[in-house]
Amino acid sequence: VIGDGWPNLTRGRAILLTLALLGLGYLLLQTNTSPVQISTWRGNAAGSAALFVGGSIAGEAQMQGGLGPAPGGNVDVPFGNPLAVSRTVLTQGYGVGSHAPASIWGGLDLAVDGDGDGAADPEGTWDMPVYATHNGIAQVRPNTWPGGNYIAVTNSVYKTAYAHLARFAVIEGQPVARGQIIGYVGSTGQSSGPHLHYEVWENGVNRDPTDFGALEGIGR
Ligand SMILES: [Zn+2]
Repeated sequence: VIGDGWPNLTRGRAILLTLALLGLGYLLLQTNTSPVQISTWRGNAAGSAALFVGGSIAGEAQMQGGLGPAPGGNVDVPFGNPLAVSRTVLTQGYGVGSHAPASIWGGLDLAVDGDGDGAADPEGTWDMPVYATHNGIAQVRPNTWPGGNYIAVTNSVYKTAYAHLARFAVIEGQPVARGQIIGYVGSTGQSSGPHLHYEVWENGVNRDPTDFGALEGIGR
């Protein structure tokens, strides 16, 4: 019954050995995949689902709706909420606190109210996708200070910056399109909790992202 190469094994032992090896393989597989399994991505998936409970539109469409269409179809001008979810919460405004002086540090801090209580919470914010608000070329800068994992999207006129990311979805020099996922929200660099720090620059001058639709579609 057992092949010639297994002369000392009874059928029962062979079965047990096979089961043990399968079990070991399973454990190794679990161990190898656990960093991904326990990452906040799974939590985010649940959080995202919660965000769209009661929504009449499919999740993805609603997220696109959060970013909104580019005014005049001009995808080279930044526009919209880079988190692209209606439950985005402004946790620090333009030109105040660590965003002063605005000419240097101007930007908005955005987080997500995942549980619908009206306040941002880490569970709903961690690892949320971050969308480019205009077309450009990605500059990817890991481990900067104070921006942590930082991406800038630049074109001939505009630069947008996305700071404190958990991880990147694009590489240095990659052309990105408006609405493309470029990274995921984290708390890297000078940050007390997961949020996106978002900046808009026009011809090298810092601008208030609110003037570029960053808070539109929020709170619906
Ligand atoms: Zn900030």
